[in-house]
Amino acid sequence: MPEHIRSAWLRTLGAVALALLAATVVGALAGNAWMGLALAALAAVAWHYWRLRRVLRRLTARQRWEPPRGDGVWNELDRLLFRSQREMRMRKRRLLDMLRTYRAAAAALPDAVVVVDRNSQRVQWFNEAATTLLGLHHPRDLGTPVVERLQPLPLAQWLASGRNAEPMLDAPSPADPQLRLNMRLIPYSEDYWLLVARDVSKLLRLEQVRQDFVANVSHELRTPLTVVHGYLDMLDPEDLPEYAPMLAEMRNQSQRMTQLVEDLLTLSRLESQEDSNAEEPVPMRPMLATLRREAEAHSQGRHTIEMSDEAGCDLLGSGKELHSAFSNLVTNAVRYTPAGGTVRVRFAREGAGVVLEVHDTGYGIPSSHLPRLTERFYRVSSSRSRESGGTGLGLSIVKHVLGRHQARLQIVSEVGRGSCFSCHFGAARVLSRHAVDVAPPPAA
Ligand code: ADP
Repeated sequence: MPEHIRSAWLRTLGAVALALLAATVVGALAGNAWMGLALAALAAVAWHYWRLRRVLRRLTARQRWEPPRGDGVWNELDRLLFRSQREMRMRKRRLLDMLRTYRAAAAALPDAVVVVDRNSQRVQWFNEAATTLLGLHHPRDLGTPVVERLQPLPLAQWLASGRNAEPMLDAPSPADPQLRLNMRLIPYSEDYWLLVARDVSKLLRLEQVRQDFVANVSHELRTPLTVVHGYLDMLDPEDLPEYAPMLAEMRNQSQRMTQLVEDLLTLSRLESQEDSNAEEPVPMRPMLATLRREAEAHSQGRHTIEMSDEAGCDLLGSGKELHSAFSNLVTNAVRYTPAGGTVRVRFAREGAGVVLEVHDTGYGIPSSHLPRLTERFYRVSSSRSRESGGTGLGLSIVKHVLGRHQARLQIVSEVGRGSCFSCHFGAARVLSRHAVDVAPPPAA
């Protein structure tokens, strides 16, 4: 027990003992010592009872404690209660300040933030930006069902997927159809979810400007390039032997530029529509035959080209786009494999889906480059890519085409041993081969 508490106890006990003694002496003088003692004991009990009652009353009424004056054990208790009350009040004030700061910060965020009750899916709280971006109004919309309130947005299914909800990348704002929103669902606790909406209208506009610019520039470059290319073709190096090396280089470069422009236009076209609408049957036998011809044309007999069609089915999608993707993979495999190597293309079943793999025994790619390989103009070795006539856009095109077919590109590579680029398609893209196509040829 601390020293001041012990001395308070001693003082109180001393005072009670003194009072009892004095009452006994006064009683004795009056002729009845016991009566004096009994009355004094009763008074002591009554006093303690009164102090105890005062404490209980104040605690029950949550009264504010006054700093006590005086000593004794009851005053000490008052002092302790006063101290703990003051500390509690200060803690509460600090917490409230913190809460107010957080709320002010959340309220001042430029993104709309809505707290949604997970079970009832009702709006619990929202910040100012939620009014401009989502059209929620204080206090009218507090407690309203969020799906109903933000009606045009397809929220019901989205909320149902909970933790697995993918961000909505380009949703129209219910407050202003001109605004485009990027919406995320953050399940931050067991009971509450955070719905965050960001205005991405400007970003999308800029992206559109960029896409249009690239598409227009590529388109505008096409005509002058065709003219240059045409005149270069008309010049015969045999007529101008001293210019022959220069002519060859000019043809080479103009061809490279034409390919670059074509690739940029292909990318622009792929970007301008979100999903591939084409759902046409893509026969894979002729596709593989074309890929073989292209590979052989590129290889000029320097590689072994192998094709295997084990899937026995076709694909559903855009034949033009898929050919462009596969062809890029096959020409890359030939380009980045030294003479004497092998390029193998395999089309096979994979669970309910299918996979098209392009293996090569070429240079391979260091693993640090793999994550960035599908970025535009990203090259492992610029000189090697340029020498082999690469534009740096091939794998970007592959990624876009596969994305539009809900397929996935996987790259496995080992430096010095070769690479395998595989395109994985889901069951929805598998089309069983037409009966006539798979039937054996009729006997002559
Ligand atoms: P490029 O036109 O330069 O080939 P791509 O986008 O098709 O552009 O490929 C990007 C880079 O990835 C290439 O520059 C090359 O370094 C690397 N690459 C692509 N395919 C292969 C492959 N089969 N083997 C080795 N490296 C490859």
